[in-house]
Amino acid sequence: MNREDDPHAELREGVRALCAAFPPEYFREVDARRGYPDAFVDALTRAGWLAALIPAEYGGSGLGVTEASIIMEEINRAGGNAGACHGQMYNMGTLLRHGSSEQKARYLPAIARGELRLQSMGVTEPTAGTDTTAIRTTAERRGDRYVVNGQKVWISRVQHSDLMILLARTTPAAEVRKRSEGLSIFLVDLRQAIGHGMEVRPIANMVNHETNELFFDGLEIPAENLIGEEGKGFRYILDGLNAERAIIAAECIGDGYWFIDKVTRYAGERVVFGRPIGQNQGVQFPIAEAHIELEAANLMRFEACRRFDAGLPCGAQANMAKYLAAKASWEAANACLQFHGGFGFAADYDVERKFRETRLYQVAPISTNLILAYVAEHVLGLPRSY
Ligand SMILES: Cc1cc2nc3c(=O)[nH]c(=O)nc-3n(C[C@H](O)[C@H](O)[C@H](O)COP(=O)(O)OP(=O)(O)OC[C@H]3O[C@@H](n4cnc5c(N)ncnc54)[C@H](O)[C@@H]3O)c2cc1C
Repeated sequence: MNREDDPHAELREGVRALCAAFPPEYFREVDARRGYPDAFVDALTRAGWLAALIPAEYGGSGLGVTEASIIMEEINRAGGNAGACHGQMYNMGTLLRHGSSEQKARYLPAIARGELRLQSMGVTEPTAGTDTTAIRTTAERRGDRYVVNGQKVWISRVQHSDLMILLARTTPAAEVRKRSEGLSIFLVDLRQAIGHGMEVRPIANMVNHETNELFFDGLEIPAENLIGEEGKGFRYILDGLNAERAIIAAECIGDGYWFIDKVTRYAGERVVFGRPIGQNQGVQFPIAEAHIELEAANLMRFEACRRFDAGLPCGAQANMAKYLAAKASWEAANACLQFHGGFGFAADYDVERKFRETRLYQVAPISTNLILAYVAEHVLGLPRSY
């Protein structure tokens, strides 16, 4: 899109200017030592970008998921990895929409100032997997506290966050009409929880993504940290999940453009058999195809964001945007790796790192199969398959 046609040109330029100080080499070095991009996330926080969604009255910029998604897109488009900090964007949606005014007044100004981080969301469990309403972690009310027992898996950024949104069962599944009832969400203060009823075990994984197993053994949470009404947590968490899908779709779009730019440049310069490899249709077509799919996915991403920001139902659009964008970025990644030949495997080119990073989004935060099942059931009205 040309600058004149892009209503978000100024926002993009602001984020790009910051990202210019953290080129792909920076993320490559962090990836190699399996570290956390502290300097980058600090700079992003200081510049206010991670407070984009916080209303101005609490010290943020009062922007929407559309703008939040552009910030995350630009990070990936510059060769970075927004996965280190995207949690703050989609978790914010849950707190803003369902948190009480006391909770907002207590946490949002400190988050906006960069003193508190809200980067984690604990939903997935080892036995339940994608079947979220089958989770077994319980939170039992005892006086002015809830006592949490159970286990979570793949919970990201816990070691780089102060707060976590936790989904737990507050009424046994046998006592509710539908399994989606009787679940509640809580704001867990990780600084108090870790070592006092909550244990964190890091999971080594394919991408440089700080993610963990969590064990709860009698963790006490003050009752005032319940978000919204007890038992309605599943409905609340869906809002956060839709924001997450739209924002991660934007990250995939950023990855996709990065791959297309990288491979287009390379294919124009790399000469084999006396001509640029990009002169061969066998090379051009997969790149062109990925570009077309990326542009189409981008339209769906903006539609999902628009609907979220307007308070309209957006489950279908958020899921479809995530599906299309993750698929398009993966096609672009494949073409980029393939046409770099052997160099695609060299860490110095950043292609193999970005290839691993974008692959994650076919599985998390929701697998492509489950999106297809959602669309079949909720959009097309076919019988539920799971
Ligand atoms: C790096 C990483 C970070 C993560 N961060 C977080 C986080 O911060 N917080 C959090 O709560 N979770 C997080 N997750 C978990 C993530 O959301 C889940 O891994 C994902 O939802 C898939 O769940 P699962 O791994 O249990 O797979 P399963 O539910 O076991 O499914 C495995 C595969 O089986 C297939 N499948 C399952 N059921 C069906 C069906 N009915 N029809 C067709 N196919 C089906 C799908 O292809 C799926 O990929 C993270 C995961 C990873 C890998």
